[in-house]
Amino acid sequence: MSTEVITTAHGSGGRNTETLIAELFAPCFHSRSLQDQEDAAVLELEGRIAFTTDSFVITPLIFPGGDIGKLAVCGTVNDLAAMGAVPKYLSAGFILEEGLDFDVLRQIVRSMADAAAEAGIELVAADTKVVEGHGGMFVNTSGIGVIPPKRSVRVRNIRPGDVLLLSGTLGDHHATVLSARMEIENQIRSDCAPLNDMTESLFISGLDVRAMRDVTRGGLGTVLNEFAHSSGFGIRIREEALPVSPEVRSLCDILGLDPLYMANEGKMLIVVAPEDESRALTILKDHPCGRGACWIGTVDSAPGVLMETPIGGLRRVDALVGEGLPRIC
Ligand code: MG
Repeated sequence: MSTEVITTAHGSGGRNTETLIAELFAPCFHSRSLQDQEDAAVLELEGRIAFTTDSFVITPLIFPGGDIGKLAVCGTVNDLAAMGAVPKYLSAGFILEEGLDFDVLRQIVRSMADAAAEAGIELVAADTKVVEGHGGMFVNTSGIGVIPPKRSVRVRNIRPGDVLLLSGTLGDHHATVLSARMEIENQIRSDCAPLNDMTESLFISGLDVRAMRDVTRGGLGTVLNEFAHSSGFGIRIREEALPVSPEVRSLCDILGLDPLYMANEGKMLIVVAPEDESRALTILKDHPCGRGACWIGTVDSAPGVLMETPIGGLRRVDALVGEGLPRIC
């Protein structure tokens, strides 16, 4: 392990910045746009495009199953995928704090490159700044995707009777970060993954996907409320149908957490017509990211989000209020 760390000189725009780019960033990314070092990337795009941005602030920077770099790629890729877009181009802004270990940064940048390659998205623009601090870092990514003709994936498409499918277990990312911060040892790993290949497999099979959203900060409870609010319809889910791994369940029991409000970084909520349910589940389960896919509920004409409890009661599900501690994405 080297003891070399980031200093303000690396953000000067001069020789040290050049070295940082040449030695650390360039070997990981092989984009023509980056190599040309012009002031802006020139891109070829056709048709409707989806465009999104997100900033990533997480402690620790590296955690079981991922790191801030992988997270920054997957978060943006999954937002594009949720709109039915095929991810194409990515930009990344790095804000590095003085004292950040070079090897840690190298590991994060490599993992970012791996995630981008897996998702098939090309990093075409990037920037680095160095600020005073305590050896941390922040990443902003923006992504552009192309929406194929005739594809419309919007919350306003959903209607009563539609079914809600979830691509896998809840809370894994949140539980991982929480465990790392509290120094609790367990086998839980973040679910951080690009989901565009999985969602594309639904479209390739000709399935009519009404709406999708990746279940991140705020958890499933918040996403369901967003869907209910935007569509004007209600949602009814069944508590027993919500998938949670035994490890995450026991951590939740100990710490008093509700998996409904825990963040994930590799799970998609997918709404399809009732006649497409079984085919969609088969396709999802066939994909490594969707093995745990299951039905969780339906769209209802009565407004609000309600959850049927195992004893036959109905519990109202609100959106997350306040900060979902700790900062997990
Ligand atoms: Mg999202």
